[in-house]
Amino acid sequence: MGAPAAGFTTYKAGGPAEILVEPASAEEFAWLSAWCRANALPLTVLGQGSNVLVSDKGLPGVTALTGRLAALGAQGLRITAQAGVLWDDLVRLSAEKGLGGLEKTSGIPGSVGGAVRMNAGAFGQETFDRLAWVEGLDAEGRLVRLEKKDIPHAYRHTQGLDKLILTAAAFDFPQGDSGVLLQDRSCVLASREVKQPLDLPSAGSVFKRPQGDYASRLIDAAGLKGLRVGGAAVSEKHAGFIVNSGGATASDIYALIAQVRARVKAASGVELELEQILLGEF
Ligand SMILES: Cc1cc2nc3c(=O)[nH]c(=O)nc-3n(C[C@H](O)[C@H](O)[C@H](O)COP(=O)(O)OP(=O)(O)OC[C@H]3O[C@@H](n4cnc5c(N)ncnc54)[C@H](O)[C@@H]3O)c2cc1C
Repeated sequence: MGAPAAGFTTYKAGGPAEILVEPASAEEFAWLSAWCRANALPLTVLGQGSNVLVSDKGLPGVTALTGRLAALGAQGLRITAQAGVLWDDLVRLSAEKGLGGLEKTSGIPGSVGGAVRMNAGAFGQETFDRLAWVEGLDAEGRLVRLEKKDIPHAYRHTQGLDKLILTAAAFDFPQGDSGVLLQDRSCVLASREVKQPLDLPSAGSVFKRPQGDYASRLIDAAGLKGLRVGGAAVSEKHAGFIVNSGGATASDIYALIAQVRARVKAASGVELELEQILLGEF
C-alpha cells in the first residue's frame, strides 16, 4: 500500500509514502498542515525529490509534493516563483530576460522550494546570491515572509527553513545581456551532459565539498569508482554521484554511502559530510 518513492524521487528507490498528496495552493497546504497537526501525523514536503533518499521502510504520515504551486513571473529586475516551479524554468526565464546571476545553476533538477531550502548551487553561484525573500507556512500554519538577511545560510545549508513549508520566493537581479546569459546557460548544460551520469537515476552529489577539495576527487583517488552494493554503484563517470544502476534499494544506497565514507576516511583522513537528506528510518 502507499505510493512508492520510486515515483517521486530521482533515485527511483525507497519505500512507500503512506499518504501522498499534491495540494494546489498555499491555502490547501495550510489546511493540510492543520489537519496533520490535529491528527498527530507527520508531514513531509518535497519538491522534485532530487536531493533525498527515502528509507525502504517508507514515509509515515503524509507526504505532500509542491508541483502544483507553479506560478512564475518576471517584474522588471525581480522574478517571483511559487515553490513548486522547476528551478531550471526560473533560471531559463532569468537568462531570457537578461537577468544575471543564476545562469550557472542551469540544469539543477529541483524545485524552487528545494533549491532555496538546500541553497543549491553550481559553478560558483548559489540560490541565495539573488534571493530577496521567501514565503512559507510556519508550524502554526501562518503565512510568514522572511527576508534573505534574516535567514542564516552557507554552502548547501540554510537555517530555520526546515521549520517552514516554503510556498514562494522572490529573486532580485542586476540587468545583464540575455545573449551572453543564454550562451553561459548552454555551456553549463553541455558541461553537465559531459560530466554527470544523467542517463541513470541519482540524487546528484552525495557529499558536500570538503574544505579545499572535491568529494569526487577523494572518492576517485581512493579507487572507489564503480564500487557496488546491490543495484547501487559509485558512478564511473562522476565519482561524487551514486547511481541506481537497476533495482537498487535505499538500503543498497545507504550501505554504499557508508562504505565510501569509511574508505575515503581510511585513504585520506577526510570525513565526508552528506549533502543528501535521509528521510525515514535507516
Ligand atoms: C542529476 C542531478 C544533478 C544535481 N546537481 C546539483 C547541483 O549542481 N547543485 C546542487 O546544489 N544540487 C544538485 N542536485 C541536487 C538537487 O537537485 C538540489 O538539491 C535541489 O535543489 C533539490 O530540490 P528538490 O525540489 O528536488 O528538493 P527535494 O529533494 O524534494 O527536497 C530537499 C529538501 O528540501 C525540503 N523541501 C523541498 N521543498 C520544500 C518546500 N517547498 N518547503 C519546505 N521544504 C522543502 C525537503 O523536505 C527536503 O528536506 C542535483 C541532483 C541531481 C539528481
